[in-house]
Parts: sequence; structure tokens; C-alpha cells
Amino acid sequence: MENISQAEKQMLKDQQATKEKETAENEANKKQRARTTKKVIYWVLGIVIVFGGLGFLISKIDFKTVEPTVIGNVNFPTGPIHWHADLTASVCGVNRELPKPVGNAHLGTVQLHTHEDGRIHIEASVNSPDEIKLFRYLKNIGIKVAEDSVFDVKNGDDCNGNPGKWVLTANGIEEEDFYNHVILDGQRLSLDFK
Ligand SMILES: [Zn+2]
Repeated sequence: MENISQAEKQMLKDQQATKEKETAENEANKKQRARTTKKVIYWVLGIVIVFGGLGFLISKIDFKTVEPTVIGNVNFPTGPIHWHADLTASVCGVNRELPKPVGNAHLGTVQLHTHEDGRIHIEASVNSPDEIKLFRYLKNIGIKVAEDSVFDVKNGDDCNGNPGKWVLTANGIEEEDFYNHVILDGQRLSLDFK
């Protein structure tokens, strides 16, 4: 009796130990799983935030895409072109000489420049009308220009006793915005402060 009981006791003990071990292992597994789940959630959240943020930023970036634009009968971007236009300037009725290079040189960029002839030359290809606006040409040949002034003469400055204003005509027709005027082939431009 005593022996059997002893053996039974041992068996119960062993079973108990095994059970405890299993329970501990289960607990550990559960904890491990919980940790893994947490990690996965953090990663997913992180990825969502990072890519969401990137997506938002990208949506805010103003990509300089070349939009097809038509001005007059000109399609932008143009192919290779070689245009000429003419420009004169005056302040209160007095003609203003525009800068010219000496000899065979050019003044300005390859795309937008002048030679000894004083004409506006537009060469190569033009991606967007913005590249050949009048203010760019003026800057290229070294003239100080802003949206309301040319040289050092500003809208509202005195002109023979009255406040004057910069006015641009293209082929005799008055343009609204001299600064952003797009120079086209063959145009006769007159920029006058009056
Ligand atoms: Zn030319």
C-alpha cells in the first residue's frame, strides 16, 4: 500500500510539474505573440504614416510639367526655331537705347538673346511660353525690370507733370501685362513709359 501510494504520489507530482511547465510555456508563447502583434501594428502604423506623409508631400509638389500651350498659332513646346522680333523703348517720349553686344558676340542666353543688330533672337526649342517672356529678354540683355518698372522708372513716377505708366504694344496693339508678354516671331514691340 505504502509503495503504491509512494509511486502514485511521484506520478502525480510529475504530472503536476508537466502541467506547470506547459502552462508557463503557454504564457510565454502568449506574451511572445502579443509582442509580435504589437510590433506588426507599430510597423503598419509607421509605414502608413511615412507613406501617407510622402504621398501628401508629393501631392503638394508642383511638378514642372511641360503643358502643351497654344498662343496665337504657335504650339508649345516648339520644335527647333529661329525667331526674330524687334523692341524699342522710350521714357516720356525720349527714346532709350537698349544694350547691344559689340562685333560678332551675342548678349543673353542661346535661347533668348540679341546681336549687334539689336533684334530679339529666339533660337533652339522653347518648352513653354514662360521661357520667352519679355522680362526674361530684358534681364538677359542687362536691363533692370520688375512687374511695375523698367530701368529705374516705376509706374506712378512723374512723366511731364503726370504720373506715368509702362505700356507695351505688340504690332501696334496694347498688351495688358508687359512683364509677362510672350515674344512671338515677327512682333514689333514698343515699350513706353508715358
Ligand atoms: Zn537670329
